[in-house]
Amino acid sequence: MKKGRVVCLILLVFFQLVVKSEQVLICLNPTTQITECTFTSLNGSYKKAGLHITQKKQVVINHSDIHLPITFKAQGEHARFKIHTSSRIRELKSSNIYSGNLIIKRVGGGLKLYNKIELDQYISGVVEAESGKDQPTNFYQVQTIISRTYALANLRKHEDQGYQLCNQVHCQVFKGVARHSNDIYKAIEQTKGLILIDTNIEVAHAAFHSNCGGFTTNAEEVWSYPKHYLEAVKDTFCHAGLQYHWQKTVDFSRWETLFKHDSIYDASIPTRDSLISREPICIDSICFSKKQARSTLHLRSTQFNYCLQEDSTSVLITGRGFGHGVGLCQEGAIEMSKQNYDYRSILKHYYKGIKIISYKDLKFFQHLE
Ligand SMILES: [Zn+2]
Ligand SMILES: [Zn+2]
Repeated sequence: MKKGRVVCLILLVFFQLVVKSEQVLICLNPTTQITECTFTSLNGSYKKAGLHITQKKQVVINHSDIHLPITFKAQGEHARFKIHTSSRIRELKSSNIYSGNLIIKRVGGGLKLYNKIELDQYISGVVEAESGKDQPTNFYQVQTIISRTYALANLRKHEDQGYQLCNQVHCQVFKGVARHSNDIYKAIEQTKGLILIDTNIEVAHAAFHSNCGGFTTNAEEVWSYPKHYLEAVKDTFCHAGLQYHWQKTVDFSRWETLFKHDSIYDASIPTRDSLISREPICIDSICFSKKQARSTLHLRSTQFNYCLQEDSTSVLITGRGFGHGVGLCQEGAIEMSKQNYDYRSILKHYYKGIKIISYKDLKFFQHLE
């Protein structure tokens, strides 16, 4: 081995040892104002401004009582807490369990709650929220790498608001740490620090969706920018998935609102099924995107056909897939996992030309530049 390479390798090992594990700051009520909450220490203890809060102790915080931000600081990595609020926030239920620190700030007439948490603890909760219980371990490994990649690529998404990620679908759904599956924690250990990068050595946009309907779609068809690893691929693994087929009947008058040229449309609607596709709906020379139809009619995907029902008052829409169709197809990836494909093969099936690398290695190489 050349001398330069040996030095580089030693530096890399040293760098990995000294770089601390990443922490993230998550806002737990980004869109909802709350005025009061109750903190409960579950496992271990917490410190708040010098006060020791022992296990099972509760602290009530009212917005009128605080002026400066307060922090409940976890004493040890096993400390856990929960929060109760009177507001109905889907992602902030009192059954959720959190690790790390809780920071509370007074914002306007209410309180904002933030969880400062180790990246992998955060990922455990995201993986459970995004993929559910009882999935194959290989699939948990895939979802872990995707969620870790997404988090690290989006750490500045809420920079203007003073935190990194929100707990909602806008970033990734997070309802506290994983509670129902030990396999998620195993998957996190087995894929320690791994993320996806593109050929420019940049953190990838790891898009995923529920079911692609047999073909994923190119990124530029959904978001108007191309990515070499987000190109359409044929997928036979998701055909038996629950979200592969769907049907919806809409009133003809609702369907009509999509099109400004009613008279042309009225004469042209097919009465028999055509091919299910993502191709635009074209009547004479006028075309309408299925993206627009999906959003207006709340359809599961842009891959569908349509025909006028016999009574002429409604349109039957028959489609495939669920979601935007870009990147990894979750139901296909679950089936691949069941067929014993490993996480590398699954990720490389959906993201063409992608590289899997430890984020600490990525930081090291970015440091050298
Ligand atoms: Zn967000
Ligand atoms: Zn698929």
